[in-house]
Amino acid sequence: MQPNEYSVPVPSDRTAILCLHCGKPQEVGRKAMSVTCKFCSKSLKLEDVKISRYEARRVIETCGTVTIDKKGHVVSDVRCVNLQLRGKLKGDVVGLRKVEVAADAELKGDVTAGSLNIAPGAMLEGFYRIGQPSNGEGAHKPAEESNKVEEAVRQETPQQEEPKAAPVIKIPVRKSVVPIRRH
Ligand SMILES: [Zn+2]
Repeated sequence: MQPNEYSVPVPSDRTAILCLHCGKPQEVGRKAMSVTCKFCSKSLKLEDVKISRYEARRVIETCGTVTIDKKGHVVSDVRCVNLQLRGKLKGDVVGLRKVEVAADAELKGDVTAGSLNIAPGAMLEGFYRIGQPSNGEGAHKPAEESNKVEEAVRQETPQQEEPKAAPVIKIPVRKSVVPIRRH
């Protein structure tokens, strides 16, 4: 009989999570399945999600890892800390830490992630914002819809000098553009 056995909190039972909604880190019990964010008071699921079949949902939310297997085909938005995609996913993705897309995977939707790892051969379509902390609701879709990640067909036209991350095409107003023709 040891009445004190469970009353002493052990530090190793704690684990750090990131809130999906406000992005703030906090400690929670390692065995907890869900908590309420200390900062924004939203409820958070902590368990990992693994999907290996067809599933359509409104959103999949967890502070853990979402894994979509090769046979998985998910039609849903995903908010998570880590995403591992080996199958198909159609929906917008927020991965606070890491999004990994395997070689045979297919991802259609906008992606915001702390970091991104894409194997050669993966199919991607959407707008990507990588390396910035997601500040929640404010910035959803940029006005530019044409900025898709596809196989960039590069045509070496001497007059086009687009800086990489800026989809704005500047049209020279006062300069006279002389078309250069090469045969
Ligand atoms: Zn929060």
